[in-house]
Amino acid sequence: MSILPIIEKGNPILDSVANAVKIEEIIKPRIQKIITDMQETLAAIDDGVGLAAPQVNIPLQIFIVSKRVLKGKDKVLDKDIVCINPKIVKFSKTKKWLDGEGCLSVRWFYGRVLRSINVTMEYYDEFGQKTSRGAGGLLAHIFQHECDHLEGELFIDKAVDIEYIEPEIVKHTNE
Ligand SMILES: [Zn+2]
Repeated sequence: MSILPIIEKGNPILDSVANAVKIEEIIKPRIQKIITDMQETLAAIDDGVGLAAPQVNIPLQIFIVSKRVLKGKDKVLDKDIVCINPKIVKFSKTKKWLDGEGCLSVRWFYGRVLRSINVTMEYYDEFGQKTSRGAGGLLAHIFQHECDHLEGELFIDKAVDIEYIEPEIVKHTNE
């Protein structure tokens, strides 16, 4: 495994739509290595909760949610969530302005973003199994942020009340 450098805003890969992964390729070594490298990269960033493949210069529809997000909330899940070719199939009509959204590719800015409070997402997991998962709260928020990355969208382009917060006082989570 290896830790991959994080691409920052301004790099065109972050503005591009990522390519779908061929389902039969998911279990092949090339994609499996990308997944484990992304997991290692995210695990090494203390305040990281999610990472999309374009953020490590890989234009594929893959993102990872750190297991640290669900610590203590979902005892069943003690590993990262790996999402391949994700599609949010249901957005709650109820939306909420969420404070303090940030991004590992847009250091060290934070802002408020209007997001659905619940979503249902379909995706393939790291074993190539089609999966559907409902999410609320922070997880719903992360799913929307990461799916935006795969569409070439950054939170900063839809955020309001954007603030620059010095790294040493950051207490937020970053995706
Ligand atoms: Zn991000």
